Amino acid sequence: MKITLESTQNLKNISKKIVAVEDIDPPRDHLFRVEWNLGPRCNYDCSYCSPNIHNKKSEHLNMEVIEKTVDRIATYTKEHKKKTRISLTGGEPYLHPRFFDIIKMIKDSGIQRISVTSNASMPAKTYIKSLEYVNYLILSIHFEFAKLEKVKEKVLEIKSALTENRNLHLHIMAIPGKVNESLELAQLMKDEDVSFALRRVRPQFDENGLYLMPFNSGQSGGHGPKWSRIKDSNLHYYSEDELQRLGAFK
Ligand code: SF4
Repeated sequence: MKITLESTQNLKNISKKIVAVEDIDPPRDHLFRVEWNLGPRCNYDCSYCSPNIHNKKSEHLNMEVIEKTVDRIATYTKEHKKKTRISLTGGEPYLHPRFFDIIKMIKDSGIQRISVTSNASMPAKTYIKSLEYVNYLILSIHFEFAKLEKVKEKVLEIKSALTENRNLHLHIMAIPGKVNESLELAQLMKDEDVSFALRRVRPQFDENGLYLMPFNSGQSGGHGPKWSRIKDSNLHYYSEDELQRLGAFK
Protein backbone atom coordinates (compact mmCIF):
# COMPACT_ATOMS: atom_id res chain seq x y z
CA MET A 1 0.00 0.00 0.00
CA LYS A 2 1.22 3.50 -0.76
CA ILE A 3 0.04 6.65 0.97
CA THR A 4 0.91 9.93 -0.67
CA LEU A 5 0.96 12.94 1.62
CA GLU A 6 0.87 16.41 0.18
CA SER A 7 3.09 18.99 1.88
CA THR A 8 1.24 21.43 4.06
CA GLN A 9 2.10 24.13 6.56
CA ASN A 10 -1.28 23.76 8.22
CA LEU A 11 -1.39 21.27 11.08
CA LYS A 12 -5.18 21.11 10.99
CA ASN A 13 -5.08 19.87 7.42
CA ILE A 14 -2.71 16.96 7.85
CA SER A 15 -5.44 14.35 7.67
CA LYS A 16 -7.02 16.05 4.69
CA LYS A 17 -3.75 16.14 2.86
CA ILE A 18 -3.38 12.42 2.42
CA VAL A 19 -4.01 12.56 -1.30
CA ALA A 20 -3.64 8.94 -2.33
CA VAL A 21 -3.92 5.50 -0.80
CA GLU A 22 -3.30 2.76 -3.30
CA ASP A 23 -2.04 -0.73 -3.76
CA ILE A 24 1.28 -1.24 -5.45
CA ASP A 25 1.07 -4.36 -7.49
CA PRO A 26 2.73 -6.71 -6.93
CA PRO A 27 3.99 -6.20 -3.37
CA ARG A 28 7.65 -7.19 -3.43
CA ASP A 29 8.83 -6.72 0.10
CA HIS A 30 5.62 -6.49 2.20
CA LEU A 31 6.57 -3.02 3.35
CA PHE A 32 4.07 -0.35 4.25
CA ARG A 33 5.20 2.38 1.87
CA VAL A 34 4.82 6.07 2.40
CA GLU A 35 5.77 8.43 -0.39
CA TRP A 36 6.30 11.87 1.09
CA ASN A 37 6.83 14.93 -1.05
CA LEU A 38 8.59 17.45 1.20
CA GLY A 39 7.61 20.31 -1.08
CA PRO A 40 8.46 21.84 -4.44
CA ARG A 41 11.56 23.81 -3.43
CA CYS A 42 14.29 22.93 -5.94
CA ASN A 43 17.59 24.42 -7.05
CA TYR A 44 17.11 23.19 -10.62
CA ASP A 45 14.62 24.30 -13.24
CA CYS A 46 14.42 21.42 -15.69
CA SER A 47 12.60 22.31 -18.90
CA TYR A 48 10.53 19.11 -18.70
CA CYS A 49 9.40 19.66 -15.09
CA SER A 50 6.13 21.38 -14.31
CA PRO A 51 6.22 24.61 -12.25
CA ASN A 52 3.65 22.86 -10.03
CA ILE A 53 6.34 20.38 -9.05
CA HIS A 54 9.30 22.68 -8.55
CA ASN A 55 10.22 26.27 -7.77
CA LYS A 56 13.02 28.18 -6.08
CA LYS A 57 10.95 30.15 -3.61
CA SER A 58 8.42 28.06 -1.75
CA GLU A 59 8.83 27.75 1.99
CA HIS A 60 10.31 24.66 3.51
CA LEU A 61 7.86 22.43 5.29
CA ASN A 62 7.87 23.36 8.97
CA MET A 63 9.27 20.99 11.54
CA GLU A 64 6.11 20.85 13.61
CA VAL A 65 4.20 19.39 10.68
CA ILE A 66 7.04 16.98 9.99
CA GLU A 67 7.22 15.78 13.61
CA LYS A 68 3.45 15.21 13.76
CA THR A 69 3.48 13.35 10.47
CA VAL A 70 6.39 11.10 11.42
CA ASP A 71 4.73 10.38 14.74
CA ARG A 72 1.47 9.46 13.02
CA ILE A 73 3.13 7.14 10.57
CA ALA A 74 5.24 5.51 13.28
CA THR A 75 2.18 4.99 15.50
CA TYR A 76 0.23 3.47 12.64
CA THR A 77 3.01 1.06 11.72
CA LYS A 78 3.51 -0.04 15.34
CA GLU A 79 -0.21 -0.58 15.86
CA HIS A 80 -0.45 -2.63 12.67
CA LYS A 81 2.87 -4.41 13.23
CA LYS A 82 4.17 -3.36 9.84
CA LYS A 83 7.60 -2.67 8.50
CA THR A 84 7.61 0.71 6.87
CA ARG A 85 9.54 2.51 4.20
CA ILE A 86 9.30 6.27 3.84
CA SER A 87 10.37 7.64 0.47
CA LEU A 88 11.24 11.33 0.56
CA THR A 89 10.90 13.29 -2.67
CA GLY A 90 10.49 16.93 -3.76
CA GLY A 91 11.54 19.26 -5.24
CA GLU A 92 14.96 18.60 -3.84
CA PRO A 93 14.65 17.14 -0.32
CA TYR A 94 18.27 17.81 0.67
CA LEU A 95 17.61 21.56 0.37
CA HIS A 96 15.51 21.46 3.51
CA PRO A 97 17.69 23.21 6.13
CA ARG A 98 16.74 20.54 8.70
CA PHE A 99 17.05 17.60 6.34
CA PHE A 100 19.44 15.69 8.58
CA ASP A 101 17.19 16.23 11.60
CA ILE A 102 14.29 14.88 9.55
CA ILE A 103 15.96 11.65 8.50
CA LYS A 104 17.31 11.11 12.03
CA MET A 105 13.83 11.70 13.43
CA ILE A 106 12.35 9.14 11.03
CA LYS A 107 14.96 6.55 11.98
CA ASP A 108 14.61 7.27 15.70
CA SER A 109 10.83 6.80 15.43
CA GLY A 110 11.41 3.12 14.64
CA ILE A 111 10.57 3.35 10.93
CA GLN A 112 12.75 0.75 9.31
CA ARG A 113 13.66 2.11 5.92
CA ILE A 114 14.21 5.49 4.35
CA SER A 115 14.66 6.19 0.69
CA VAL A 116 15.41 9.61 -0.77
CA THR A 117 15.25 10.83 -4.33
CA SER A 118 17.65 13.68 -5.04
CA ASN A 119 18.74 15.56 -8.14
CA ALA A 120 22.42 14.75 -7.42
CA SER A 121 23.35 18.41 -6.93
CA MET A 122 24.68 17.96 -3.40
CA PRO A 123 28.35 17.18 -2.72
CA ALA A 124 29.24 13.49 -2.44
CA LYS A 125 30.13 13.96 1.24
CA THR A 126 26.59 15.15 1.99
CA TYR A 127 25.09 12.05 0.43
CA ILE A 128 27.59 9.81 2.18
CA LYS A 129 26.84 11.43 5.53
CA SER A 130 23.12 10.89 4.99
CA LEU A 131 23.68 7.16 4.45
CA GLU A 132 23.85 6.83 8.21
CA TYR A 133 20.03 7.03 8.01
CA VAL A 134 19.15 6.59 4.35
CA ASN A 135 18.88 3.00 3.13
CA TYR A 136 18.17 3.69 -0.49
CA LEU A 137 19.56 6.73 -2.30
CA ILE A 138 18.10 7.49 -5.72
CA LEU A 139 19.94 10.10 -7.76
CA SER A 140 18.19 11.60 -10.77
CA ILE A 141 20.62 12.98 -13.32
CA HIS A 142 19.41 16.10 -15.09
CA PHE A 143 21.87 17.06 -17.81
CA GLU A 144 20.59 20.60 -18.26
CA PHE A 145 22.44 21.23 -15.00
CA ALA A 146 24.66 18.25 -14.26
CA LYS A 147 28.09 17.84 -15.83
CA LEU A 148 28.93 14.30 -16.86
CA GLU A 149 32.44 14.15 -15.41
CA LYS A 150 31.33 15.52 -12.05
CA VAL A 151 28.42 13.09 -11.92
CA LYS A 152 30.68 10.14 -12.66
CA GLU A 153 33.12 11.18 -9.95
CA LYS A 154 30.36 11.76 -7.42
CA VAL A 155 28.55 8.50 -8.08
CA LEU A 156 31.72 6.44 -7.83
CA GLU A 157 32.65 8.15 -4.57
CA ILE A 158 29.21 7.41 -3.10
CA LYS A 159 29.32 3.85 -4.37
CA SER A 160 32.65 3.26 -2.67
CA ALA A 161 31.12 4.43 0.65
CA LEU A 162 28.10 2.09 0.51
CA THR A 163 27.88 -0.36 3.35
CA GLU A 164 25.62 -3.34 3.91
CA ASN A 165 21.92 -2.52 3.52
CA ARG A 166 22.69 0.70 1.73
CA ASN A 167 21.78 0.99 -1.92
CA LEU A 168 22.28 3.45 -4.72
CA HIS A 169 20.20 3.80 -7.86
CA LEU A 170 20.42 6.28 -10.74
CA HIS A 171 17.64 7.69 -12.89
CA ILE A 172 19.43 8.95 -15.97
CA MET A 173 17.22 11.46 -17.74
CA ALA A 174 18.32 11.08 -21.36
CA ILE A 175 17.33 14.46 -22.74
CA PRO A 176 17.67 15.43 -26.40
CA GLY A 177 21.13 16.80 -27.05
CA LYS A 178 22.60 14.80 -24.15
CA VAL A 179 21.99 11.27 -25.36
CA ASN A 180 25.72 10.59 -25.73
CA GLU A 181 26.38 11.64 -22.13
CA SER A 182 23.40 9.63 -20.92
CA LEU A 183 24.57 6.49 -22.69
CA GLU A 184 28.12 6.95 -21.45
CA LEU A 185 26.89 7.24 -17.88
CA ALA A 186 24.57 4.25 -18.30
CA GLN A 187 27.47 2.16 -19.59
CA LEU A 188 29.63 3.19 -16.65
CA MET A 189 26.87 2.23 -14.20
CA LYS A 190 26.57 -1.11 -15.93
CA ASP A 191 30.31 -1.68 -15.73
CA GLU A 192 30.37 -0.61 -12.07
CA ASP A 193 27.32 -2.71 -11.18
CA VAL A 194 25.28 0.27 -9.98
CA SER A 195 21.56 -0.09 -10.66
CA PHE A 196 20.12 2.52 -12.99
CA ALA A 197 17.24 3.35 -15.29
CA LEU A 198 17.89 5.10 -18.58
CA ARG A 199 14.84 7.25 -19.11
CA ARG A 200 13.49 8.99 -22.16
CA VAL A 201 12.10 12.35 -21.18
CA ARG A 202 8.64 13.56 -21.95
CA PRO A 203 8.60 17.31 -22.47
CA GLN A 204 6.32 19.57 -20.54
CA PHE A 205 3.47 20.72 -22.78
CA ASP A 206 1.69 24.02 -22.45
CA GLU A 207 -2.04 24.51 -22.98
CA ASN A 208 -1.50 24.76 -26.76
CA GLY A 209 0.38 21.50 -26.96
CA LEU A 210 3.71 23.26 -27.42
CA TYR A 211 6.81 22.37 -25.53
CA LEU A 212 10.30 23.48 -24.65
CA MET A 213 13.45 21.88 -25.89
CA PRO A 214 16.04 21.31 -23.14
CA PHE A 215 18.21 24.29 -22.17
CA ASN A 216 15.33 26.68 -22.76
CA SER A 217 13.85 26.84 -19.29
CA GLY A 218 15.26 30.30 -18.64
CA GLN A 219 17.29 29.40 -15.56
CA SER A 220 19.65 26.81 -16.93
CA GLY A 221 22.31 29.08 -18.33
CA GLY A 222 20.90 32.41 -19.38
CA HIS A 223 18.72 31.31 -22.26
CA GLY A 224 16.16 34.04 -21.77
CA PRO A 225 12.81 34.14 -20.04
CA LYS A 226 10.87 30.98 -19.46
CA TRP A 227 8.87 29.79 -22.49
CA SER A 228 10.74 32.18 -24.75
CA ARG A 229 11.70 29.45 -27.19
CA ILE A 230 8.65 27.28 -27.43
CA LYS A 231 8.97 24.80 -30.26
CA ASP A 232 6.33 23.82 -32.74
CA SER A 233 4.53 20.73 -31.47
CA ASN A 234 4.99 19.12 -34.88
CA LEU A 235 8.76 19.11 -34.46
CA HIS A 236 10.30 16.02 -32.96
CA TYR A 237 11.64 16.22 -29.44
CA TYR A 238 14.25 13.54 -30.13
CA SER A 239 15.99 13.05 -33.45
CA GLU A 240 15.61 9.66 -35.13
CA ASP A 241 19.27 9.02 -34.50
CA GLU A 242 18.89 9.69 -30.77
CA LEU A 243 15.88 7.40 -30.53
CA GLN A 244 17.75 4.64 -32.30
CA ARG A 245 20.77 4.95 -30.06
CA LEU A 246 18.62 4.94 -26.93
CA GLY A 247 16.66 1.94 -28.20
CA ALA A 248 19.85 0.03 -29.02
CA PHE A 249 21.33 0.38 -25.53
CA LYS A 250 21.42 -2.99 -23.80
S1 SF4 B 1 15.46 18.43 -10.31
FE1 SF4 B 1 13.51 17.31 -10.27
S2 SF4 B 1 12.07 18.66 -9.16
FE2 SF4 B 1 13.86 19.90 -9.69
S3 SF4 B 1 13.28 20.88 -11.61
FE3 SF4 B 1 14.39 19.00 -12.18
S4 SF4 B 1 12.82 17.42 -12.40
FE4 SF4 B 1 11.88 19.15 -11.30
